[in-house]
Amino acid sequence: MDLTKHVPKRAVLPKLKATTKVEVLREMSEALLSGKNKSLRGAVLEQVVSRESLESTALGHGIALPHARVAGLDDLICAMAVSPKGVDFRAVDQGKVHLVFLMLYPPSKQSVYLNFVSGVVRALHESDRAEEIVEADDAVKMLDILKAGAGETIAAETAALGKKAGIEVLDVDGIAGAELFLLARLELYGDMLDGAKKGKTELKRRLEDIRALVSRRVLQHYDRLRKRGSPALVTFEGGVCQGCSVKLPSQQAQRIRKETKTVATCGHCHRFLYPI
Ligand SMILES: [Zn+2]
Repeated sequence: MDLTKHVPKRAVLPKLKATTKVEVLREMSEALLSGKNKSLRGAVLEQVVSRESLESTALGHGIALPHARVAGLDDLICAMAVSPKGVDFRAVDQGKVHLVFLMLYPPSKQSVYLNFVSGVVRALHESDRAEEIVEADDAVKMLDILKAGAGETIAAETAALGKKAGIEVLDVDGIAGAELFLLARLELYGDMLDGAKKGKTELKRRLEDIRALVSRRVLQHYDRLRKRGSPALVTFEGGVCQGCSVKLPSQQAQRIRKETKTVATCGHCHRFLYPI
């Protein structure tokens, strides 16, 4: 996936002026939505801030991934910004955040969002890529580093698909991370196939390649969910399953966040959960 096609250059900010979390979110959403009408910009900021108040989107290691679903957008758009001094995002590791990706997507593009966010996490997971972006000091360089990171992720994925049994190649966050990544891909290609007028054979072939890597138990459950109607994979945010909007008991929510061996499902609607 070419991550950078979702990141317009006007929304790449090598030096944020803002020094607080809300100001950062404002500066980034203004850059991302420049040219859009004022009421939309205000509504977006409100949504992003209220999502952020539920639970911090800081991942640790100086990275935060705020996001919101926004009706009226055509596709996912993302701003990427660096705060040289760092901003307090109430991160779990209590460290300051230096690199922020703000993602906005329409409700119909949830599978694109899941793929994008897992692509970003993977691209940054490799080596010191996040640090390189923070030090780049230049919008074009920042985009190049992100693109190179995503390229390597795709290469690793392709190698794994070629080997069929090579799920280890993808396994940087434990099995659950790898399966979530594969499920997000299945969901994306599944949606593309449903809406495709041509190129169906190629999409089916890719789907089969990915299916060969997903464990049988997960695949069976996935197929049942897909039959019931998409989506089968939804985000889990602030303790709430975004598929059925039910807030799960806090013990269950904690278990889902800590899960590394298998993909968690919602105790209410049984969809696969992608903790964000
Ligand atoms: Zn649910």
